[in-house]
Amino acid sequence: MRVEADLFVGAEGRVSRMREEMSTKTRRSDYNHHFLTVSFDRPETLDEATIISRGSRFLGLFPLPDHQVRTVFLIRPDEFKAMRREGLERFYQEYRELRPDLSGYVEGIRKWQEIQLMIPFRHNADRYCRDNIAILGDAAHNVHPMAGEGMNMAIQDADILGHLVSWSYEHGRPIDDTLSWYERVRQGRARFISELSHLSALAYSYDGDLVQRARSRVLQRIEQSDYLHFKYMLNISGLGEWPETLFDRFRQLGLLPAERSLSKAERLARRFRSREDYPWLSQADNLAAPGSTNGGVKDA
Ligand SMILES: Cc1cc2nc3c(=O)[nH]c(=O)nc-3n(C[C@H](O)[C@H](O)[C@H](O)COP(=O)(O)OP(=O)(O)OC[C@H]3O[C@@H](n4cnc5c(N)ncnc54)[C@H](O)[C@@H]3O)c2cc1C
Repeated sequence: MRVEADLFVGAEGRVSRMREEMSTKTRRSDYNHHFLTVSFDRPETLDEATIISRGSRFLGLFPLPDHQVRTVFLIRPDEFKAMRREGLERFYQEYRELRPDLSGYVEGIRKWQEIQLMIPFRHNADRYCRDNIAILGDAAHNVHPMAGEGMNMAIQDADILGHLVSWSYEHGRPIDDTLSWYERVRQGRARFISELSHLSALAYSYDGDLVQRARSRVLQRIEQSDYLHFKYMLNISGLGEWPETLFDRFRQLGLLPAERSLSKAERLARRFRSREDYPWLSQADNLAAPGSTNGGVKDA
């Protein structure tokens, strides 16, 4: 079958035929842990998202509507087979030890098939577009799920790409000449967030008393300091970029005092501006997208 279109968008998730079609190179990093994810009925006492980290164990609990809870449980890669051999009782036991009020609820899982094995990895494609093909979301970049940015990033890609495509049509510009603006705006931002989420993932990749205490301390300091909290949330949300410095690391560890709070104006000034999100709007006189070959005008 032959399909013709002005634009093809690959949004098929981690495994993307469109990405392959573009002959894109991706560098993949794997992690030293896997996750088991499963939903089941929750007790009334569990009404807030909760993360429990103890020794080598990590359990994320995310309440859902209809009295359900989505759970994410960290395991070593070799553990899944052993757990299955031992039976579901072993799985229940792990949950009950970390959160005793799940007793009587986690047993609602009756088969291993209800539990999904999730193998985290990260990649960032070296190109997000080629000719009239663009990829977005997990097809373009995949991050470790620990910091929960995957959906944000996919939505932000779609916003930028959608705006560019509408603008190109409105201004009679060929898509394949303007598309590289999309890559220019999104690729660096995705790489930045990918590094952040990688750092969060590493923090949970190793256990031991010292690591655990440092992790708790950093999280507490980020929560307590308005400055550190704003900076972290700004970066992780993808609404702005304000790289953390060595001084920030010392502040997070409590080795330096926390910075003062930021005013509303200071916070707003750190957000991406419209001209950074949609640079084509302010480049109306020079419509060639970066990397395009014919100055934005199609050959007759
Ligand atoms: C266990 C787990 C937990 C996560 N937790 C979070 C979280 O807390 N917060 C967060 O922000 N992100 C989280 N993520 C990541 C998030 O789910 C993804 O980053 C996000 O869904 C990416 O969106 P997407 O549209 O690019 O891809 P997807 O959501 O994967 O959607 C791709 C869609 O394309 C369809 N498709 C595939 N191939 C084709 C084809 N050939 N033709 C037509 N359709 C096709 C698929 O069926 C699918 O519906 C998590 C991921 C996992 C696996």
